[in-house]
Amino acid sequence: MTLQDKVALVTGAASGIGKDIAKAFLAEGAKVAIADLNLTAAEATAREFDPSGERAMAVAMDVTDEGQVDAGVEAVAAKLGGIDILVSNAGIQIVGPLEDYKFSDWKKLLAIHLDGAFLTTRACLKHMYAQGRGGSIIYMGSVHSKEASLLKAPYVTAKHGLEGLAKVVAKEGAAHGVRSNVICPGFVRTPLVEKQIPEQAQALGISEADVISKVMLKDTVDGEFTTVDDVARTAVFFAGFPTNALTGQSIVVSHGWYMQ
Ligand code: NAD
Repeated sequence: MTLQDKVALVTGAASGIGKDIAKAFLAEGAKVAIADLNLTAAEATAREFDPSGERAMAVAMDVTDEGQVDAGVEAVAAKLGGIDILVSNAGIQIVGPLEDYKFSDWKKLLAIHLDGAFLTTRACLKHMYAQGRGGSIIYMGSVHSKEASLLKAPYVTAKHGLEGLAKVVAKEGAAHGVRSNVICPGFVRTPLVEKQIPEQAQALGISEADVISKVMLKDTVDGEFTTVDDVARTAVFFAGFPTNALTGQSIVVSHGWYMQ
């Protein structure tokens, strides 16, 4: 087990990609904090994965709220014995053309993806540095960290921004053995994507089937969605990598949609 007794905090872990990462980390021997805006769903996830309550815990955390992030990270470190791995994964999508895009939606999206990444990073780094046993920080980027798509201005902006943050954390964290990397998935059929299919169909004036085949999967090598399992395996790889050789990097997991 590559993550035996490591303590991991995964944000947005009550659903989709984060939930599967939490499950994979537990299977690799880690203790996992399931942090989410939706506490009821986080508690249900923790119970589902670890009925004993010894290795998984739920934390109420709005990643845009400085007080909640700091308090949540403290509670996790106190209960599970420090913090070794952060997966900054919580995210949303709000699609729309730039000329009509609401400023409030722009700010909301950037706050969850970028303020959330900053606040959770800062809170976890304090523990990682003080513990002196290194650490791994993983940001959930996207193919949209590399490419643009129609209707996704703040999402593409935020996902590109995470690559910059990861590189700074790699440089500042190196002396403490803290590594920082980005996973860039293609489309994964989570609730976040299910919601987009009808929205994009309406905005682009095409059928839902065409949104899938002609927009979402058009540039993949095989017309396949990426799965939560594909992303979770990559997270286990980054989390368990033992040295600074792999830091400041991004891996694209997208069925060849984007090739570096
Ligand atoms: P999802 O909607 O299934 O899950 C997102 C989770 O984040 C939910 O449990 C939600 O409650 C939580 N969340 C939302 N706002 C929050 C906040 N302010 N504080 C804490 N938690 C909050 O979505 P998903 O598809 O699993 O997406 C997870 C991450 O993966 C996101 O960063 C997303 O941008 C990224 N991503 C997704 C895809 C995809 O195709 N699904 C592709 C590339 C990247």
